[in-house]
Amino acid sequence: MRNIFLSGSAAILVLLASCSNADLKKVNADSVKLIAKPIPGTPIKYDSSKRYIFLTWDDSPQPPGTVNCKNVFREQNVKATFFAVGFNQVGPFKKRIIDSLRNDYPQFLLANHSFSHGFNDKYAKFYSLPDSAYNDFMKNEKELQIGVKIIRLPGNNTWASKAVIHGQKAENPLIKKLDANGYQIVGWDMEWGQNGKQKQPKESATEMVKRINQKFEDGSTVEQNAIVILSHDRLFEKKQFADSLSRFIQLLKQDPRNVFETIDHYPMLQRK
Ligand SMILES: [Zn+2]
Repeated sequence: MRNIFLSGSAAILVLLASCSNADLKKVNADSVKLIAKPIPGTPIKYDSSKRYIFLTWDDSPQPPGTVNCKNVFREQNVKATFFAVGFNQVGPFKKRIIDSLRNDYPQFLLANHSFSHGFNDKYAKFYSLPDSAYNDFMKNEKELQIGVKIIRLPGNNTWASKAVIHGQKAENPLIKKLDANGYQIVGWDMEWGQNGKQKQPKESATEMVKRINQKFEDGSTVEQNAIVILSHDRLFEKKQFADSLSRFIQLLKQDPRNVFETIDHYPMLQRK
């Protein structure tokens, strides 16, 4: 009990003096871990016998959906990417959700889906004003402290990386400007969509897994042996749908070829 009366550094000395060698080794191992925190975008080595699955969930933070999805991904120990929208980050609780996504790399990657979600879903206007739209992405990057230059366009399936551009908005000046400034844009191969106006997934877990297997077998994904799945946090608000997400991942995990990765490791994004 005497230690509590010592100043900070003296207390640490007393504490270290009372540690065994084994304790000290652990302290050192923990410091190395802290220093060696992985950096998003560091290339991974691909195994051609595997199938890489990129779960990319849009419009976070949208609790309770975002929290449910995070919990399911964590329980199942799979990696996922959240394309976040600064406009949705209202109040301290939602800020903490974004902070947790940012701090949980390598399990989760926080990426950019624009600040205003394309001027509040006014996509025609958004894509007709490339400078304002560009600034909207920059504002989002700053407000959410997004550490990677990876973007998903609101309401649009376009891909861009190092001057290779394809998709619906390939000719749009906004895409060219983002690309010229080193941003990479990710579309999707398949969406786990919304059931009409209801906040719930349209397909069952089994149906989605069937579609994914079919697409891999057809070889019709944008990149070989890799699939980008788009969905939205808000579809998994209710317990039964969070359970469905859990079931979806369990089914995919039954196939030993399947590997879950964050989108910074997508082949197109790793190419020099
Ligand atoms: Zn969106």
